[in-house]
Amino acid sequence: MTSPVRILIHGASGRMGQALLRLAAAQPETFEVVGAVSRKPAQRVIDGVPQFAASELNGAPAFDVLVDFSLPEAFDPVLALCVQRDTALVSGTTGLSEAQLAAMRSAAQKIPLLWASNFSLGVAVLAELVERAASALPGWDCDIVEAHHTQKKDAPSGTALTLGQAAESAGAAVHYASLRAGDIVGEHLVQFTGLGERIELVHRATNRDIFARGALHVAARLAGKPPGSYRVRDLLD
Ligand code: NAD
Repeated sequence: MTSPVRILIHGASGRMGQALLRLAAAQPETFEVVGAVSRKPAQRVIDGVPQFAASELNGAPAFDVLVDFSLPEAFDPVLALCVQRDTALVSGTTGLSEAQLAAMRSAAQKIPLLWASNFSLGVAVLAELVERAASALPGWDCDIVEAHHTQKKDAPSGTALTLGQAAESAGAAVHYASLRAGDIVGEHLVQFTGLGERIELVHRATNRDIFARGALHVAARLAGKPPGSYRVRDLLD
């Protein structure tokens, strides 16, 4: 029997962090959560997991892979810690700056790293459909409308930008619109409009467990891989 992958969860008190902790705890043969990091932890230990404040990040126990779903302002120390400890990093934090994306590309020469704006299988397939539609429909208008809960900070969403890049790679010029309402987990409409006709491709996430499950799936496979920048589809099996 192989030993569980040791994971450190960053952004642990957030919506995604809580889903990650719950799902990882349900798979003790696969994951050992060695710590949970958030801005201001309410207690020192919760459900047997040691809690750390962001200011204590460098004192976190040894881990094989760090799973980060936090905010851009928390990201730089996370990347630095993984490089310093020579460990894998899975991040779903959106709204990262160009400089942070460049720092990630450089870190990927030293550690295995996977950043994705969306960890759901449905969105991975949607991106392929969008690319195909864009290349088959030159000259059509391409609009992406995304809707999320009111707490979401960045707009357009990271997923909308990823879908936009898929369309642009096939020649489309993309326009974005963002809605922030209620507790919407995440909806993306990619619309191709020609003269007298329209195609609408829609993905609706109704439960954020899909993202947490996807992130844990790739985290278990990324630990111990050679350095590089990985995609979700590289680690699906
Ligand atoms: P949230 O606001 O509920 O949680 C944010 C977490 O980050 C909290 O634990 C908070 O303590 C921590 N944090 C904030 N500032 C910090 C700082 N300066 N230092 C250390 N920790 C800090 O957010 P959420 O809904 O859980 O989303 C988290 C991130 O994940 C966002 O960027 C969101 O867009 C992204 N997201 C990605 C996917 C995906 O599939 N890639 C899916 C859902 C959400």
